Formats: sequence, structure tokens, C-alpha cells
Amino acid sequence: MIRRDESPRPGRVDDITCIRCLQVKPSEELDRLMWCEDCIARARKRALKIGLASGGGLVLVLALYIWFGIRPDLSLIPTGWALTLVVAFYLGSRVARELAYGVERWQNRPAVEARPPA
Ligand SMILES: [Zn+2]
Repeated sequence: MIRRDESPRPGRVDDITCIRCLQVKPSEELDRLMWCEDCIARARKRALKIGLASGGGLVLVLALYIWFGIRPDLSLIPTGWALTLVVAFYLGSRVARELAYGVERWQNRPAVEARPPA
């Protein structure tokens, strides 16, 4: 944690450097892992993409399994199978998203969001 000696804004308690993007932010914008709100939002966005991709992959595998493995009579309950896939996608993407976000938080690699000066 790097603290500034002089605060440009009077009234601020202190500004703290975010360990992810190395930008100095007001301390209330950082959480207990010293991530700023932007870095949290970026991590959540990445986790969302991973979640959607994982959910899509799961649905593809499940659809192939249902089609070739179970060989259902789709004339009877097509909505039931469709619903199964929708639920699988929803749950799969949610779990994968939370896992991806949790892993990134747990690894907590410093300065990965930092942009080199142009
Ligand atoms: Zn940051």
C-alpha cells in the first residue's frame, strides 16, 4: 500500500494506490483487497464472459448428449428438453462466472490492469 504524502483534495482522509491498475484513488473507492471500483468492474466483466462461454459449452455438450445419448422423442415434450438446456445454461454460466471471479480475487495478481505509459 502506497500512500501519498500530500493530498490534492482537502478533506480527503487519504488516497491509496490500487494494486491492480496502480492508479491513485480515494480510499473509499477501494475495497479490502485494495482493488478500485474500475478493477472490480473489469474483473466482473471478464468473469461474465468466461461464465457465458462455459454455459454455452455446457449446453452444447448436454444437447449432444440428449440428442445422441438419450434420443428423446421430441414430438412429445420438446419444451421440457428446451427448458432443461435453458436451466443448464443459466446455472452453468452463473457457477462458472462466480468461480472465475473468485479465482481472480483469490490469486490477486498485482498490477495486471496497469497500462504502461504511452
Ligand atoms: Zn484499479
